[in-house]
Amino acid sequence: MLTLDGASGEGGGQLLRSSLALSMITGTPFRLENVRAGRKRPGLQRQHLTCVLAAQEVCGAVVEGARLDSLEVTFRPGAVRPGAYAFNVGTAGSTGLVFQTVLLPLALTGRPSELSLEGGTHNPMAPSFDFLERVYLPLLEPMGLRCSVRLERPGFYPRGGGRWRASLAGSAEGRPVRAGVLTLVERGAVVRRRVCARTAGLARDIAERELSAALGALGWDVTEGVAEKLDARVGPGNVVLVEVESERVTELFAGFGERGVRAEDVALAVSAEAGAYLSAGVPVGEHLADQLLLPLALGEGGVFRTTAPSLHSTTHAEVLRAFLGTETAFTDEGSGAWRVTVAGTVT
Ligand code: ATP
Repeated sequence: MLTLDGASGEGGGQLLRSSLALSMITGTPFRLENVRAGRKRPGLQRQHLTCVLAAQEVCGAVVEGARLDSLEVTFRPGAVRPGAYAFNVGTAGSTGLVFQTVLLPLALTGRPSELSLEGGTHNPMAPSFDFLERVYLPLLEPMGLRCSVRLERPGFYPRGGGRWRASLAGSAEGRPVRAGVLTLVERGAVVRRRVCARTAGLARDIAERELSAALGALGWDVTEGVAEKLDARVGPGNVVLVEVESERVTELFAGFGERGVRAEDVALAVSAEAGAYLSAGVPVGEHLADQLLLPLALGEGGVFRTTAPSLHSTTHAEVLRAFLGTETAFTDEGSGAWRVTVAGTVT
């Protein structure tokens, strides 16, 4: 049984989710102490609890400590069972994070699965549905992990209530998949840029103001902006997405409207993030970087270039070392660019 300290490194939910995925894949039981000790409200919150219960359901694990606010979780995995599953966070908590907990364990079985997810689809501090669809999943495809997703209804904080589906394709022979290698050191030329200001049940001018602020800050043309008005019944909600599609990768940055924060400021913050990515000249942004470590380590490994590693990335690398014994190297290349080399477990 591996014992991990949830207070170490980033000290948040990611330690739990990576441990769950790795435990299911390797069959290694673990105990996580001090769950989310680094957060204002430590312990399992709704999203984290849903991740534990989803992982338990998918592999028939024996679990202790699966309750709200729990500060310790013990997880003894069984064999991963592909199939049809429905996971409901029950709040506006991120469904994307629940999805990422079970995706690789299910995908690597090589047999198809169908997932239905309910809760938040566009949350601050989590991969949005759009990010999963256009950034994360397309990168897994060349590694042999194919999954298509379909949004049925968006879910914003605090209302939640979003719903989407994911279809994981099995391998042609139905044999376990061994994730391949990924090399992503160049971005290639930018082929498309887009700012999308999406609102639901909010004043008409919010999206227009966001578009104008974002396009102005980025120096992009008005034709590169689009306002999307969603059904007011899924609101209130507001997200500004800045998408940069390059020859080798698509990156997506998200800013969320909040009560008391000016629409222009939401747009300027996300534009600054996208601008920093563009001027760093790297293919992989901060959030994508920590999310690529797990699939790479489970496959043949790989290398990518990104901005300075976040605490999420370095903490994730520690979890990989604990479960797989693999090393992840972060090398400063100067001028804000870093090279990340992930050792794989498949040869
Ligand atoms: P906690 O409340 O404990 O911080 P959490 O479970 O909500 O935890 P984190 O542990 O902080 O979340 O992990 C958040 C994950 O979401 C990370 O993998 C991070 O890269 C990703 N993420 C955050 N913001 C974005 C974004 N804008 N786009 C894509 N991914 C994101």
